[in-house]
Amino acid sequence: MLDVVVVGGGPAGSYTAYQLAKSGLTVLVLEDHKTIGKPRFCTGVIGKEAFNRFDLPHKSIQREIKKAKFYSPLGSILEISRDKTEAYVVDRTIFDQGIAHKAMDEGASYLLSTRCYDIDIKKDYVRVKIETRGESFIFKARVCVLAAGINYRFHEKLGIGKPVNFLDCAQTELPARDFFSMEIYLGNEIAPESFAWAVPVSSDLVRVGVSTTKKNSLHLIEKLLKKDFIRTRIDRIDKKDIHIKRKVIPYGIAKKSYGDRLIVVGDSASQTKSTTGGGILNGLICSSIAAETIISAFEKGGFDHKNLKSYESRWKRQIGHDMRMGLYARKIFKQFADSHIESLVRLCNINEMHSILKKFADFDRHSCFLVEFMKQPIFWKYLLFNASGLKSWSIHERL
Ligand SMILES: Cc1cc2nc3c(=O)[nH]c(=O)nc-3n(C[C@H](O)[C@H](O)[C@H](O)COP(=O)(O)OP(=O)(O)OC[C@H]3O[C@@H](n4cnc5c(N)ncnc54)[C@H](O)[C@@H]3O)c2cc1C
Repeated sequence: MLDVVVVGGGPAGSYTAYQLAKSGLTVLVLEDHKTIGKPRFCTGVIGKEAFNRFDLPHKSIQREIKKAKFYSPLGSILEISRDKTEAYVVDRTIFDQGIAHKAMDEGASYLLSTRCYDIDIKKDYVRVKIETRGESFIFKARVCVLAAGINYRFHEKLGIGKPVNFLDCAQTELPARDFFSMEIYLGNEIAPESFAWAVPVSSDLVRVGVSTTKKNSLHLIEKLLKKDFIRTRIDRIDKKDIHIKRKVIPYGIAKKSYGDRLIVVGDSASQTKSTTGGGILNGLICSSIAAETIISAFEKGGFDHKNLKSYESRWKRQIGHDMRMGLYARKIFKQFADSHIESLVRLCNINEMHSILKKFADFDRHSCFLVEFMKQPIFWKYLLFNASGLKSWSIHERL
């Protein structure tokens, strides 16, 4: 009988395992892939706060980010730069492995190439069925942490709601030059209802990707790679050497993330930023709360849903407001034609709005600047006029 079984060895699962093992509990992590952190899908942009707040592997850092440039489809550019580092670009393989090694150093066990195919919550324990190298086994644990990313096969059976919103993403890594800052491309042709990006990893490597709510990210990234502003900076490369990977990101606030002897963390509980889909920081915040809740349940000796309930109220208190504001912003952004996006980028370049952006824009928490922005009458004036089709009114006059 184990204390805790963790399904999934991504950052959320491994960080939970790390803290649980550190507190002296016996922890087993089950990971479907044969290598932690591979295959790699993520862009790996993580706010500096995550490294300040959590015990993360610094050796995974590939580059610092101080500047972001937003490109409107109609030509305007918004540049936000800081004197200090705002975020890091990390190698997700090294990052995930670094956290897993910390967990192992604290005594957690890992089974790789091991797929969990059934989870049964019994009165006194959780029964987990696994398959590894063609053989099946059963483990018993007091508590199960579900951190299986976007694998939602257990949710219905366990009475945990599945996410309803997804961003379809496609990304590739290419040899390139002249990408100096994080570049975000907006527009309904480039990335409907979302955005595309180019993130330099080093002076000669860039991660280019697209996210959309429209399920056609592969088609969109192929188009994006042909655009002059990308193509001309990518080194000549054979088409067969361009490896595009596709994956979805859930977003929106999960209805339920716990049950009897069960806690759900990370993408499994849809704990991503509703604005960008970034999920690493939120996953780490929630992993910490999950570990504290489980440790306290062991102290009390009770593992039913009442003992684990505080997990959900705590994580929702910490990140729920930001997620809700992000969803609200997304609803507004969804209505935007390219002309609206152009006006918005120009609006952000107006002195008073740019100072608000500089003061309140935070890499990880977007609600502060969204609220400040929405407090400005010019923002609503602009929205109302555009939404009612009165395109003749133009904020450009104020520039
Ligand atoms: C293209 C793209 C770019 C992104 N860029 C960023 C970014 O720049 N910054 C950011 O913060 N976030 C980013 N994200 C989101 C980020 O990758 C996720 O939020 C994060 O990986 C979630 O961590 P996790 O531990 O919850 O899940 P995962 O990292 O998905 O880990 C889950 C693990 O569970 C394993 N697993 C699943 N089912 C089973 C099973 N039945 N048995 C055993 N093991 C199982 C999987 O193999 C996997 O290793 C991006 C996502 C995509 C798709």
